Amino acid sequence: MADNVGNADARPDLELEESLAEETPEGTVDEQELAEAEAPCGHKGVGIPAAGQRHGGARSVGFRPGGGEAAHAYEDRTGIKAPRIIAWEITRSCNLSCAHCRAAAEFGHYAGELTLDQIKATVDDIVTITNPIFILTGGEPLMRPDIWEIVDYVHEKGGMPVIGTNATLITDEIAAQMAEHRIPRISVSIDFPTAEEHDGFRGQSGCFDATLEGIGIAKRHGVGVQVNMTVTTMNADKVEAVHDLAEQLGVDAFHIFMLVPTGRGEDLLDKELPPEEYEAVLEWAYERQKTSPLHFKPTDAPHYYRIIRQKARAEGKKVTREEYGLDAMTRGCLGGITFGFISHVGDVQPCGYFDMQLGNVKEEPFSKIWTDSRVFNELRDYSLLKGKCGACEYRAVCGGCRARALSVTGDYLAEEPYCVYVPASMRGECET
Ligand code: SF4
Ligand code: SF4
Repeated sequence: MADNVGNADARPDLELEESLAEETPEGTVDEQELAEAEAPCGHKGVGIPAAGQRHGGARSVGFRPGGGEAAHAYEDRTGIKAPRIIAWEITRSCNLSCAHCRAAAEFGHYAGELTLDQIKATVDDIVTITNPIFILTGGEPLMRPDIWEIVDYVHEKGGMPVIGTNATLITDEIAAQMAEHRIPRISVSIDFPTAEEHDGFRGQSGCFDATLEGIGIAKRHGVGVQVNMTVTTMNADKVEAVHDLAEQLGVDAFHIFMLVPTGRGEDLLDKELPPEEYEAVLEWAYERQKTSPLHFKPTDAPHYYRIIRQKARAEGKKVTREEYGLDAMTRGCLGGITFGFISHVGDVQPCGYFDMQLGNVKEEPFSKIWTDSRVFNELRDYSLLKGKCGACEYRAVCGGCRARALSVTGDYLAEEPYCVYVPASMRGECET
């Protein structure tokens, strides 16, 4: 049920972000690079906890994903950014059966899952080009009996493991192991503010209470917690209530996810918000973040980074790190740019929702796939974007959801189907 952890932003890290590759409407690369260098939160450094930062997250423990020598050498050699975050579906087995699950996971063993040795070999390869955060996800990663060996191996090799879990399996013993094995943060999905609604969506009664209990136990053991909420037509009017619940639970972050209907989520195609409502939720997020004590991160909603800039301009502000923190540093869609995904059988994708396998780690090293894949390289070239996204002045900070474009049109470079914005050049205006 780590249903929304296969994408670039479902990550329970999670205060590390992306430097922008080209000039943005209100900010420049120079500003962002300067900010990165000074206050490490970007590609070259994610080490120092931000002032007032709560517990949890890679930065809170001084980790700098993609900030090591291997990553710098790789970028110098290839001109390609090394991945800073890799979501890894270490098992597809799950104890729940959630309606919107990316993995369409169920209880039971899945054939062909990577063995511990194959996982270790892949980690060995990846650390030759980067020191990323590894989001261990599923399915339910806590169902994998060797999870602590995997966690320890990632630490030993210089990566940072975090866990995306449904939290229903977290006992005192499990939480103690998380703390002992230095898991800085877990991410947990809560989609409704009441047990009745949440359990109905998750396909299991008692799930809501078990999740809340698991969160409490994790927190008591000092493990940071991020709450994820997948927004659909079924719960778009409940984001405030789920936010308030997350706040009451005392978690560290609240990430809303805009449904990408792949995997079991395909059955929810008719539950995807229409573009106008989608926009309204993102505008709510922008306003709510101003007063919320939680770190926000609208996810699989690349146009949030366009909205930030539009709103900032209307407020007479510039989107600088000082004013907007990490939101000023990141890009909407990071799939294939600094984020990658490995499935339970070793398939490599730009993200878990991007339904195209670009190679398999059983057959060739991840580092080779990351470097050579035509699809990865096309995703990195924003000039190849088509339609509105290609013409858009915000394409560097947004880029549209490539998985959604692929799913709706069959072309991952097509325009994002769920964006209401019409680029200035298509309105016959000058770009701003
Ligand atoms: S048109 Fe594309 S690039 Fe521009 S804001 Fe919309 S989704 Fe983003
Ligand atoms: S393709 Fe869509 S779901 Fe995947 S990382 Fe990009 S925005 Fe997220």
